[in-house]
Amino acid sequence: MSKRDYYEVLGVSQNANEAELKKAYRKLARQYHPDVNPNNPEAEAKFKEVNEAFEVLSNTEKRAQYDQFGHAGVGNGGFQGGGFEGANFGGFGDLFDMFFGGGFGMGGQSRGPQKGSDLRYDMEISFAEAAFGLDTEIDIPRTEECAACHGSGAAPGTHPATCPKCHGTGQIQVQQNTAFGRFVNVRPCDRCQGEGKIVDTPCKECKGQGRVRKYRKIKVKIPGGVDNGSRLRISREGEAGTRGGPPGDLYVYIHVKPHEIFERHGQDIVCEIPVSFVQAALGAELQVPTLDGKVELKIPEGTQSGTSFRLRGHGIPHLRGGGRGDQHVRVKVITPKKLNDRQKELLAEFAKAGGEEVSAEEKSFFKKVKDAFGV
Ligand SMILES: [Zn+2]
Ligand SMILES: [Zn+2]
Repeated sequence: MSKRDYYEVLGVSQNANEAELKKAYRKLARQYHPDVNPNNPEAEAKFKEVNEAFEVLSNTEKRAQYDQFGHAGVGNGGFQGGGFEGANFGGFGDLFDMFFGGGFGMGGQSRGPQKGSDLRYDMEISFAEAAFGLDTEIDIPRTEECAACHGSGAAPGTHPATCPKCHGTGQIQVQQNTAFGRFVNVRPCDRCQGEGKIVDTPCKECKGQGRVRKYRKIKVKIPGGVDNGSRLRISREGEAGTRGGPPGDLYVYIHVKPHEIFERHGQDIVCEIPVSFVQAALGAELQVPTLDGKVELKIPEGTQSGTSFRLRGHGIPHLRGGGRGDQHVRVKVITPKKLNDRQKELLAEFAKAGGEEVSAEEKSFFKKVKDAFGV
């Protein structure tokens, strides 16, 4: 079911101030109030929608969340019992307090089992660990169901009693007579805080909370091929649920430390290897570092600086199996900075043999440089 924009529901602009919101809300709440529209499901739905919109927009924090993230920013938007807190409506004038002081709790359902919160753990791993995977253990602090009372909060051997005030429903009804007629307000039971149960003899381990804080070692298996920013979900290892709800999940966020010489591009690895100009000119057999140790790479005669060579299958394994990427080796030809006289002589000879003339002009230029810097 798609939800209407809250501003649209109230018929106000995005810049509406508090007074405008209240005014719009009052008008609509009166118009669609169930007591004014008996047995009219459409009006009831509108009434709920209006209430929900106002509940969010009248709260500065929630409104900011909503403006930024839309309905997703303010939870699932569903109206849970107890969502109407009198405090939200305080100070709106007598009529309002009379109307909404205790909260309407439209169809306020009793609070059932709730899934525990998800947990996040940030883990830093090396380049090679990301490539080949890692079996490790992490220590996480989390809330767990109390083992002594199995989450009931009642001391072992005792049981929580049904709340005598709400008879276990977690809700109480309050009748109010107003100018618009008689209303029945449903609100969470104040005796049991809406739990429907009362613990007479609290469990000593958890002080009646039913949950305890624990450090827990969790085995984590990181598959080969994960990348920086990968997220692993370890199901049911988050916080304990409440009222019999399942635990949340644990999310491990992967941060890969940069490697000194390898760069990752998807499943491929790129590295740069320096070679001498003699090796580049004559061809050579290079020892290239890879994730699998040193691998021999032959470069042919006349290799130009910047040329890339491929080492097949020396890249990163695919996350779901099925082979590995490649390693690309980019050759960088290093021009020597210091030559002795003999080397210079040979290079001049080399140039001459190739029919290359070092011109008189160039010679004199080089001589000047040599005189000036003594190189
Ligand atoms: Zn306990
Ligand atoms: Zn109760």
